[in-house]
Amino acid sequence: MQSKLPNVGTTIFTVMSKLALDTGALNLSQGFPSFDCSPELTALVGHYLNGHNQYAPMSGVPKLREALAQKTADCYGIAYHPDDEVTIVSGATEAIFSAVTTVIRPGDEVILFEPVYDSYVPAIELAGGIPVYIPLSPPDFSVDWAEVRSRITDKTRLIMVNTPQNPNGRVWTRADLEELAAIVQDKDIFLVSDEVYEHILFDGRVHHSLMTHPVLQARTFVCGSFGKTYHVTGWKIGYCLAPRELTREFRKVHQYVTFSTITPVQYALADFLKHPEPYQSLSAFYEAKRDLFLSAIQGSRFTYTPAEGSFFQLLSYRQITDEYDYDLAIRLTHEIGVASVPVSVFYHDQTDHKLLRFCFAKDDETLLRAGEKLSKL
Ligand code: PMP
Ligand code: GLN
Repeated sequence: MQSKLPNVGTTIFTVMSKLALDTGALNLSQGFPSFDCSPELTALVGHYLNGHNQYAPMSGVPKLREALAQKTADCYGIAYHPDDEVTIVSGATEAIFSAVTTVIRPGDEVILFEPVYDSYVPAIELAGGIPVYIPLSPPDFSVDWAEVRSRITDKTRLIMVNTPQNPNGRVWTRADLEELAAIVQDKDIFLVSDEVYEHILFDGRVHHSLMTHPVLQARTFVCGSFGKTYHVTGWKIGYCLAPRELTREFRKVHQYVTFSTITPVQYALADFLKHPEPYQSLSAFYEAKRDLFLSAIQGSRFTYTPAEGSFFQLLSYRQITDEYDYDLAIRLTHEIGVASVPVSVFYHDQTDHKLLRFCFAKDDETLLRAGEKLSKL
């Protein structure tokens, strides 16, 4: 058949995780924790497995929507109404897909900041949209706002933001929000803000959610994931926060993508969300892991700028080899037994900055062993 996504192959996360499995390599490629979630959370799920096993309401279990609205107000001081501004979905991937589908018509342009998370472009293309790429470069991956302004046209319908950003770990500043607001305030442009790493920020940084700027909040679909915050990526449960009018349209799509998401887990999360400690301690937890990994490669020829947020660290191998990053990622998996993700896959033209992405959401022993292997290069 004729492909609707001719330029899309199998996602790099599947490719590298499979290779790690096949070769027995340490898997620092796909972004998921190697450790388990809180036993209290699994106990809650166990509890709610009794009698809560049928379809949840389409928009999510009311007590989870209420708990999430309360947590959002506690964290950012912004009130989303649980009835018509909070929707529980099957992971941030679904939130992003449904939000893009809600907004984009054929021919609409969507501004993206590269390196861009791999699910965005297929969602845009399936809706008939046209991706407009703004490349960001190492070491700081900062946004050139003059360039963004120069790329806006009458067809620009959506700008997609990801902070903290995967794969490069960059965190947007308040100044970035102000620049974005100045661009969109008098235009018919929507925003999708992927904030799945909202609780993983380092060196005293704070998360500037797009919801905290009134001009941005009014036009933003904030997409989040419980998977990252509670070490449960396999549960595929996330949410979309958006003003009433946007949520009404978003739900029209969501109800025919998945309709609703897993019921007992929603009840369990509603209870668990009431405890701030797990998400308040997450930054310190992952900062220690980032620092352990970086200290473990101290003697190596890799160079780096410490990640500002997320659970990914980029390492530059310019001093080691001139190879294409994809080839190197494959070779290192086979030869030294450490799997990573090449950063060129996050650029539409495969720009090779000689960077590999390593996920440090791993137990300390794995990080130390990986560091030891990488230091031999
Ligand atoms: N956005 C980004 C930037 C991600 O890194 C991920 C997953 N790791 C997702 C979205 C998808 O989240 P979920 O697993 O909740 O679908
Ligand atoms: N977001 C994860 C990563 O960046 C992977 C999620 C997935 O495999 N779809 O590695």
